[in-house]
Order: sequence, then C-alpha cells, then structure tokens
Amino acid sequence: MIKAVKFGGSSLAEAEQFKKVGSIIRSDEDRKYVVPSAPGKRFSDDIKVTDLLYKCYGEAKVNMDFEATLAQIKERYDEIIKGLGLDLSLDDEFKTIAEKLKTEPEADYAASRGEYLNGIILAEYLGFEFLDSARVIKFDKNGNFLSEETNEALQKTLSEMETAVLPGFYGSKPDGTIKTFSRGGSDITGSILARAIHAEVYENWTDVSGFMAADPRIVEGAQTIDVITYKELRELSYMGASVLHDTAIFPVRKEGIPVNIRNTNDPEAKGTMIVESTVHVPEHTITGIAGKKGFAAVNIDKDMMNSEIGFGRKVLEVFEKNGLSFEHMPSGIDTMTVFVGMDKFVPKEQAVISQLHQAVNPDSIELEADMSLIAVVGRGMKHKTGTASKVFKALADEKISIKMIDQGSSELNIIVGVDDKNFETAIKAIYNAFFN
Ligand code: ASP
Repeated sequence: MIKAVKFGGSSLAEAEQFKKVGSIIRSDEDRKYVVPSAPGKRFSDDIKVTDLLYKCYGEAKVNMDFEATLAQIKERYDEIIKGLGLDLSLDDEFKTIAEKLKTEPEADYAASRGEYLNGIILAEYLGFEFLDSARVIKFDKNGNFLSEETNEALQKTLSEMETAVLPGFYGSKPDGTIKTFSRGGSDITGSILARAIHAEVYENWTDVSGFMAADPRIVEGAQTIDVITYKELRELSYMGASVLHDTAIFPVRKEGIPVNIRNTNDPEAKGTMIVESTVHVPEHTITGIAGKKGFAAVNIDKDMMNSEIGFGRKVLEVFEKNGLSFEHMPSGIDTMTVFVGMDKFVPKEQAVISQLHQAVNPDSIELEADMSLIAVVGRGMKHKTGTASKVFKALADEKISIKMIDQGSSELNIIVGVDDKNFETAIKAIYNAFFN
C-alpha cells in the first residue's frame, strides 16, 4: 500500500503548518512520496510566495531593483527554517536565483522557485530524499505536458528512491528551461506522482475538510460531499468550484486511483473521496452546484435556419477564427444562441457581428451581456424524475428568469443561464431546494 500526498500552500505557509504536515506524514508509513506547494497565505491579506516571485520577475524584466522583493521571499523561508530548528541555509540558492533573474529573467523559472525551495526544506525536515521536478516532469518545446514520457522517467527514478519530496507546479522542456503548469498546478504534479507509483490513494491536503456542495462564500455552512465521481468533479470544477485544479484528475483517472481531499488543520476529518465510479448512493439527488459569472449570449435569428444545412458550422467557424471558445449553444427553429466568456468576447464583438453577417446572412443578431451559467451536477439525477422541475421551481419562487437551459445527454448536469445580478440568489435557492 502506498499513498501519494500533496500539501497545498496554506498547509506549508509557516513553520507551525510544516509541523502539522510532519505529523500527518509520520503517522502513516504509507505516506512516502510527497508533493509540496509553495508557501501560501498565513492570514487573509498575506501574499503567496508564488505571487511575490511573479512580482520579482516583473521587476527584473524591466530592469527594476528586485532585491527587496527577493529579500522578502527569503525571509519567509528563513522563518520557516528557524521555526523548524533546521540546520539548513538557502543562501546559495537565493544567489543563484538572483543571478538568473538579473541575466535572463523568465516568468516560469521565477514562479517555480516557490515549490523548489519549499521542497528542499520539507525534504530536510522529513529526512526524505529531494527530487527536482525539472528532472522528471517533462514538457515539449512548445510547453505541452508530456504525460507518458513523464510517467516513464518518474517511475524509473522513483524505483531507486524509498522516499521523495517532489516539488509541485513545474517541470522542464527539452532544452532544460523551466515550465510551469497553470496556477494551482501542484495538484497536477500530485496526480502525476500518484499515477507513477500506482498509489492506492492520492491524498490532497488543503485547508478545508473536503469539497463542498456549493461555494461556502455564497451558501453559508454548505455541506461537505463524502463521495463524488471524477465526472461530477470535472463539471463542478470547470464551473468554478475550486478545491482541485480542473485538470488534476486526468493522470489518476488513467489508473482509477481515488483522490481524497483532506484538511491539514483537521486531520481526523475524512474529507471528500473523488472516485471513478461508485455504488455509494448519494444522500441527495444532486451532488453539488457551481457557477460562473461574466458570459455574453450572441442570439442569431434567421427564418428557416433549421433547414439550412451547414448553418451551425458556419456560425461556429466565425467564433473559431476569432479564437473564441463557446460554452453552450442552445438552438430553436429560427434562432441559435452562442454563449461565450465576456472578457474574451468584448474586444472582438463588432468583428464577430460583421463576420456572422457575411457567413450566414442572418435576419438579426442581438447580444446580451452579464450572464451567469450555473451547473447543477449529480450522478443521482439519472434515475430520478423531477430534478429539473425542482431547479426551475426554486428559481421561479425567487422570481429569477431563466435565460438558458441545457442538460447533457449523460444526465449528469443541468445548466441554467441567469443574469449576473441573480447569480448568488439562484445558487442559494437551488441549494436550499435540494439540501434543506
Ligand atoms: N504555487 C502555485 C500557485 O500559487 C502552484 C500551486 O500552489 O499549486 O499557483
């Protein structure tokens, strides 16, 4: 039995947190391979080390003095080292970093040092071996992650290591330059590690006792989910539920390894199990609700569009040419709507309108701004009736008008579009309808 464990930034933000991590690891000898994040926030308006590193890079890039920022970062690490009573100095490491920032500043390199240095400290504290992720986490020259090459390299290297601390978030390209995943990417490293060691479970330790059925900032006291499937999680995290990076599931999914979200500050709590499939009957019809604000709807009207072969393709081609990915595309007989993210769409809206006119000669095009999409997700809805009606009734009772409805054929989710101003009320109403 072997476990891959990953600790998030708040779990490693200061010496006291490191001590909790140490006792969690020492309490179970199956926890031999560990992925650390960079030190996160110690209090709510603290700054994450990763953000300080990006700041440092920003300063270095324009030839500004970055020493003060770098010194601030060093102080964070020195405090941790001192608090743990370690006989360790990162002076040389910081010299190397300063030198590199001065001569050839690179954003990914700078950002990756947060995990790298935290990994050195954690390895020393645990008495584990340190494995620099640049050696084993591989990207191609364009920065695409190479999953199979990585898996092979990692397996080979780890076969000779009884224990390892593998820093999260980064790897390297063939020429040796550092490449990071997107923000929150240490979750991905943990998942890659779990796959490589055929872990029994991938424990992802954070600062909440699991995945909640709704954003607790919107629904106070939202319930923790005991068991959720990979697919449900993907739906929820794509729609903004942030506990796990939204692509972190892919490596473990290859081996059907469950992910257990745990709380470093409450290690007794069982947390949430994320599994491939389960006969565990969910307590409620739906597993969770998540949503995102800031979408625009592009309504295209044309009489008889339904019988015009190729209409949809031509419309989507316009979005494709403008580099816009669409979220949903409900359609009627004479109308079709394309949902896109506002931030990307706004600078291109007039170009899209004129190109749509050229492409499909519509009767009219109307835009609607500031829409939210809310996903109501649950494997339990497949075998039940009345889920949709319950969602709609909850919204109707709050006098919220539904702008769009989409239900995937897998019957795993129902997606509704509402005005941004109704977003929070809508989520609360749906939550209460199912959970209270
Ligand atoms: N430290 C990185 C970030 O803040 C990566 C991670 O924590 O997963 O995004």
